Amino acid sequence: MSTSANPSVETDSSASDTSHPDKVINRLVRANSNYADKFTDPGMDARPVLQVAVVACMDARLDLHAALGLELGDCHTIRNAGGVVTDDVIRSLTISQRALGTRSIVLIHHTNCGLESITEEFRQDLEREVGQRPVWAVEAYTDAEQDVRQSMQRVRTSPFLLHTDDIRGFVFDVTTGLLREIDPAA
Ligand SMILES: [Zn+2]
Repeated sequence: MSTSANPSVETDSSASDTSHPDKVINRLVRANSNYADKFTDPGMDARPVLQVAVVACMDARLDLHAALGLELGDCHTIRNAGGVVTDDVIRSLTISQRALGTRSIVLIHHTNCGLESITEEFRQDLEREVGQRPVWAVEAYTDAEQDVRQSMQRVRTSPFLLHTDDIRGFVFDVTTGLLREIDPAA
């Protein structure tokens, strides 16, 4: 992860026709056109079928639907850097439970997370570079297991949630594809 906000330095030579940063989005739009051609209206409403919300890291190696056997319409997925339970995640979980009927919460961090390689100094570096300190915490961590415990605790103690009796936390191993459950009391 870099503090540079300059998109021109980000290139992906592994994919075809993405040599220029603006081309990658063209590729996505074309893919969507193909997707829509085959798409049929599933006739679902917005309430997740399995009444579950999954909070996970945004990591590109974590395919939540495949890894958890989820289908379209099954769950809410709430993702950010680290899968950290921020105020905004609590906002989404609150809406998920109170307006859209979910009852269970799954928290997923993973091995080899980008957040393990940075520290809160990231904020200071950012402030030096752009002249403004971000209002958010970086939420960097060195122990994914411990951070899952902290995340479970943040969810359990939220006054806004209706259901906090079915919350489980895991670390996903990006090399084996396996989830390891974290004991909240350990
Ligand atoms: Zn991550």
